[in-house]
Amino acid sequence: MYQTVIGLEVHAELSLDTKIFCGCSTKFGQEPNSQTCPICLGLPGALPVLNEEAVKYIIKIGLALGCRILPEARFDRKNYYYPDLPKNYQISQNYLPFAVDGYLELPPSQKKGTPIKVGIDNVHLEEDTGKNIHSESGGREGYSLVDFNRAGIPLVEIVTRPDMHSLEDTESFMVSLRNILLYLGVSNCKMEEGALRFEASVSIRPDEASSLNARVEIKNLNSFKSVLRSLQYEIERQRRLLSGGEIVSGETRLWDEKEGKTLTMRVKESSPDYRYFPEPDLPPVVIKPQWIKTIRAAMPELPAERLRRFVKKYHLPPYDAIILTSSKSLADFYEEVVEGFPDGKHVSNWIMGEVLEKLKERKIGIEESSLTPASLSELLNLIKCGTISGKMAREVFAEMFATGKGAGEIVKERGLAQISDTRKIKETIDLILKKNPAAISDFQTGKKKVIAYLTGQVMKETKGAANPQLVNELLQEALQQQ
Ligand code: ZN
Ligand code: MN
Repeated sequence: MYQTVIGLEVHAELSLDTKIFCGCSTKFGQEPNSQTCPICLGLPGALPVLNEEAVKYIIKIGLALGCRILPEARFDRKNYYYPDLPKNYQISQNYLPFAVDGYLELPPSQKKGTPIKVGIDNVHLEEDTGKNIHSESGGREGYSLVDFNRAGIPLVEIVTRPDMHSLEDTESFMVSLRNILLYLGVSNCKMEEGALRFEASVSIRPDEASSLNARVEIKNLNSFKSVLRSLQYEIERQRRLLSGGEIVSGETRLWDEKEGKTLTMRVKESSPDYRYFPEPDLPPVVIKPQWIKTIRAAMPELPAERLRRFVKKYHLPPYDAIILTSSKSLADFYEEVVEGFPDGKHVSNWIMGEVLEKLKERKIGIEESSLTPASLSELLNLIKCGTISGKMAREVFAEMFATGKGAGEIVKERGLAQISDTRKIKETIDLILKKNPAAISDFQTGKKKVIAYLTGQVMKETKGAANPQLVNELLQEALQQQ
């Protein structure tokens, strides 16, 4: 039996408005070469000036990954020739990166009992390169163009230790890391725009071996899917070689997405091939402990903490909490629904059931759907007070999901609502508002979600007989007059 050993290098574009060493815009999809200047074009004599925000972002990422922030960081030149690299070197960090020695703990999976920690070797800051654009036609008619809009976009590179041993680990790591970057708000991680890119290294060794075999590095991985497919291909290729008595040579291979295979690109460079040396145009960056403290204090809640809080605050089983916090937008959605319908487990059941099922059908994330948290809590309130049955709720939900309409609106259209006597509803609203002074002040401070809650209370009071749409309208009116 063989053991698989996988490591990743992850590049993420930082979501900053300007480039790392100049003031050019980083906006995606603009006219080629319209966002350039002598600095990012590498013209002779142009001097880089470091974007301080990029350093803050890197420190945030380092802290989120449990790294040690070095007191002094430096930039180095990574020398190589390529048409998209105008200076013939990339300003990166080799000797003294901003953050070292961290880890990312993968969320516990159903299958594996003990949580896996993937070591983070270092987190460093560098500039992105330009982009070569090749014409469709090959041969003599073929040509390539270079767009330097991307050159100089601030890039974080996160280098893991070879601590992953399966495709499952690798996928879990990528999903978790992306989640952390999104929670931190430091990168939009849009893989379709190349904002999150991967290089994987993989080797396999007999179970009993203690040393690692030569590793193969795979480049050109622009999505989770290509990482997993290329690893699968490469693991099989190496297994075949080893079981045939051959050896696997250490090399860099290129992933061909269309063909679905890796191809030799070059024999492995070791770092001396890049002739790294300190960047003379940029001074060392001294990171004062006070600065780290300030950044740490302003860190948002991270996925792992949110998971723990979900279990505790909403009394959720860990399994629910893992799924709900697996995406920031889903977790945000959940919490907003709970505000309007304060029964954490019940809301979780709906989201993990109906909502995720519909999202899966459409292959979209919650942020791309027209379903709003307010309409879902409204629906749950309508069910709870018996206005509609569970069976009817499913139909209403399907329409909510498809059209983005509110639950009450659909119930009204379908003639499910019963009391439409304005005076009677107004009386009930007055009663409910008297009982809920806190909700009124919430409304006045802009928390519009209390409407869903109050609607539920009115529905309950009328034993589900009121027309929820009308209740909602009259409630808004009544609240505005308070
Ligand atoms: Zn520039
Ligand atoms: Mn890099």
